[in-house]
Amino acid sequence: MNKTSCEVLIVGGGAAGLSAAAAASKTARVLIADDNPNLGGQIWRAELGKTKSPQALELIKSIGSGKVQVMNNAQIFAASGTNCLLAETPEGRIELEYEKLIIATGARERFLPFPGWTLPGVFGAGGLQALVKGGLSVAGKRIVVSGTGPLLFAVADYLKNKGAIVAAIAEQATSFNIRRFGLHLLARPSKLAQAITIRSRLLNIPYLTGCWVTKAIGDEKLTAVTLVSGGRSWDVECDFLACGFHLVPNTELASILGCRIDNGYVAVDEFQRTSANGIYCAGEPTGMAGVESSLAEGKIAGLAATGQSETARSLFAERDRARGFGNALNDAFALRNELKTLAQPDTIVCRCEDVTYGRLSEFDNSREAKLQTRCGMGSCQGRVCGAANEFLFGWKPGTVRPPIFPVRMEEL
Ligand SMILES: Cc1cc2nc3c(=O)[nH]c(=O)nc-3n(C[C@H](O)[C@H](O)[C@H](O)COP(=O)(O)OP(=O)(O)OC[C@H]3O[C@@H](n4cnc5c(N)ncnc54)[C@H](O)[C@@H]3O)c2cc1C
Repeated sequence: MNKTSCEVLIVGGGAAGLSAAAAASKTARVLIADDNPNLGGQIWRAELGKTKSPQALELIKSIGSGKVQVMNNAQIFAASGTNCLLAETPEGRIELEYEKLIIATGARERFLPFPGWTLPGVFGAGGLQALVKGGLSVAGKRIVVSGTGPLLFAVADYLKNKGAIVAAIAEQATSFNIRRFGLHLLARPSKLAQAITIRSRLLNIPYLTGCWVTKAIGDEKLTAVTLVSGGRSWDVECDFLACGFHLVPNTELASILGCRIDNGYVAVDEFQRTSANGIYCAGEPTGMAGVESSLAEGKIAGLAATGQSETARSLFAERDRARGFGNALNDAFALRNELKTLAQPDTIVCRCEDVTYGRLSEFDNSREAKLQTRCGMGSCQGRVCGAANEFLFGWKPGTVRPPIFPVRMEEL
């Protein structure tokens, strides 16, 4: 079995992980492990090398200086003893030994079940964007973008730019909430400018607030969706639905390493230290607050993990300002109760194990439901249905156990 060691191991090569690596590599040997073929995380992905974002360009320069070892296609699935993680790679299992660990595992989309949501042609909003970044063509395709959060705008803009016909953006938040969020942006000129730029590119696309999908229609694949708003419902023909209900933090690795989780997020102190010795956490596992917050937290974690505490301290104000944006985001795009009534008794909630909403309604908690129906025991390990069940039934997520991702038997 292969083994490699470093002073600082960073899991996750998105904004937070790259920022941590750039800061830590000034004084230490750093290794980034990420399960994607390219660095960049959700925001940049395979396009990191092509982006004009000044933040990304600066990171690429630092990472490219040769002091950071990069391991792509490496999925961390478990710990092994003290200060050692196990990664599954195309070449087999690798042991990664470290002195300090920075967890920067990001977030995933939240999906909510509604009739027809398992039809081919229904995608996560960020999921479809990721497929297009990976080479899928959407030129000429008619797409409805739906759900909640600023990601809908970013996705619609991206898809339009790639030749798709975006039929509508259906945002479940109220127009009052959106306007209030807009006012909040006045205090953040760069975000406001970004929002205005994207909005001006999408002016000919209906942006429907207080509006959501109640049904995906089609026999073999999606042909239309039913939208509802203000008590009125109507169908919109489309080839694809890109649908996501904000984000869920990836806290599984932190959990199995014994880091304290508070209200669903990894608890950290001002230096991004978790409750576990020598383990830091940065970016979306600690809270949803956008790319600036991930970058600032990553930098602080990288500096703190390598003993550069005073420099880290000088970034606290910047980080806290960026986190404030996260609070406004969560308030504005809180999920409305009507979304709890979309799933019908025969609507599948756990799509790995084909467990319906009707079957789950028979139970009081996620553990009972899991034992009786295998809900959450399939290949996604509850990453999709767990967050949906939390919203639909108020169930707390169950205990996380390794391996946190399915791996080949031989790796165990
Ligand atoms: C699907 C999706 C699409 C998004 N698209 C946009 C967008 O277009 N524009 C925008 O401004 N914001 C977007 N966001 C929000 C964006 O992710 C944040 O603003 C910010 O960039 C997050 O940075 P991060 O480093 O915290 O996490 P991420 O960018 O998510 O990076 C985390 C990385 O860790 C990897 N990882 C996780 N677990 C493991 C493991 N066990 N082993 C190895 N690697 C692991 C992930 O694959 C990922 O590459 C998107 C979010 C999601 C979930």
